[in-house]
Amino acid sequence: KAYTKQEIREIVEQENVKFLRLMFTDINGAIKNVEVPVSQLEKVLNNEAAFDGSSIDGFVRIEESDMLLHPDLSTWLIFPWEVEQGKVARLICDVYMPDGTPFKGDPRYNLRRVLKQMQDKGYSAFNIGPEPEFFLFRLDENNKPSLDLNDQGGYFDLAPVDLGENTRRDIVLELEKMNFEIEASHHEVAPGQHEIDFKYTDALEAADKIQTFKLVVKTVARKHGLHATFMPKPLQGINGSGMHINMSLFKDGNNVFFDENTDNQLSKEAMYFLSGILNHAKALTALNNPTVNSYKRLVPGFEAPVYIAWSGTNRSPLIRVPQSRGLGTRLELRSVDPAANPYLAIAGILSAGLEGLEEKELPVESVDRNIYHMTDEERRENHITDLPGTLNEAVDEFAKDEVIKEALGDHLTQSFIDSKKLEWSAYRQTVSEWERNQYMELY
Ligand code: ADP
Ligand code: GLU
Ligand code: MG
Ligand code: MG
Repeated sequence: KAYTKQEIREIVEQENVKFLRLMFTDINGAIKNVEVPVSQLEKVLNNEAAFDGSSIDGFVRIEESDMLLHPDLSTWLIFPWEVEQGKVARLICDVYMPDGTPFKGDPRYNLRRVLKQMQDKGYSAFNIGPEPEFFLFRLDENNKPSLDLNDQGGYFDLAPVDLGENTRRDIVLELEKMNFEIEASHHEVAPGQHEIDFKYTDALEAADKIQTFKLVVKTVARKHGLHATFMPKPLQGINGSGMHINMSLFKDGNNVFFDENTDNQLSKEAMYFLSGILNHAKALTALNNPTVNSYKRLVPGFEAPVYIAWSGTNRSPLIRVPQSRGLGTRLELRSVDPAANPYLAIAGILSAGLEGLEEKELPVESVDRNIYHMTDEERRENHITDLPGTLNEAVDEFAKDEVIKEALGDHLTQSFIDSKKLEWSAYRQTVSEWERNQYMELY
């Protein structure tokens, strides 16, 4: 809903809101917030709330540290949970430079920029339906996350096996109070693992919702004595957590990916878009799977993709085309994990798809067999290549891909590469327990 300043003033008055949380997202996808007392409301509404950007990852040099927050009034929301000191509302903000220009290192601003390119090509919406998965771990006596899962349930299990059910139900209720349309919520394959799906919306709102979702899940889990984590692979030997991204392009309320006159009822545009994603899949991996840990999920045997291919039936490839047609015609990108910064990941995916629409190239044939059961030879014959196997490899692919770098712009590209190279270097220098077990006595 597009609120006016006056409406917000009135709601603040009626609901007796005490604090305003001004939120934005840094390059790592972490939500940052500046909380101000409600006495600052006029300043906030006039885009005059300032903060020191130099201390935020991927933001600016010291001399440009006085950044401004421009609240997006359509994101106004009062947190439903009780807070002793009074009600707290949030506004998601765009970040501006002191001179009044948008800050090019702001992932949300950047997504707006790419969406504008899409609109200039005549499309009205890029719809995104995410399927975030997460684990619930018990908190220990010091209130730190332990490695104890809170249940031993499996896919679609019911209570009493699924002790996470009450927590999950509470999460769903809180989300519904915050205008989420929850389509499904279930126990996932691994013990302690859950998924909650909400209805697709246009890209910017979807990215905002993903960020809000993580905050709500973590907050509610805490109240149940649990720690919710969106880390892609918290435990080895069992499934990791993905965040499949369902997507479609709309033009004036019609789904451009649907065409009732073709064999598979997918339009040419859907095929071009798909082809664009496959062509840029390696570079996109850096954005969709941005941590060292992400690559421990992308291995065979745990329902996560490993190879670059697409299918209409099989769930093993990178892209699946669900059976649904008409308005629900969509592509499902299965590699994305919940550590991804949704603003960056969606900007990258959209740019790859738009490039595909420009190039008008049809994708390689779909693979409707289980790719994991193929030999290397068979995969080669079917033009199936591997996703990058490490963060370092993915970042190198990203650094070579002009289309995906352009999807971030110079500022974000540089901060992203710098930040990920540092992360890789720190990891590379770490000697792990596995290595000691493997080599200490052998050598
Ligand atoms: P899966 O079969 O992989 O578990 P789900 O049915 O759980 O998939 O997920 C469906 C997701 O796809 C939901 O978020 C839903 O809103 C979304 N979705 C449905 N239609 C579209 C569409 N046209 N564009 C984008 N997302 C869509
Ligand atoms: N947890 C799996 C993953 O890592 C996905 C399971 C599913 O298909 O929902 O992507
Ligand atoms: Mg799932
Ligand atoms: Mg899915």
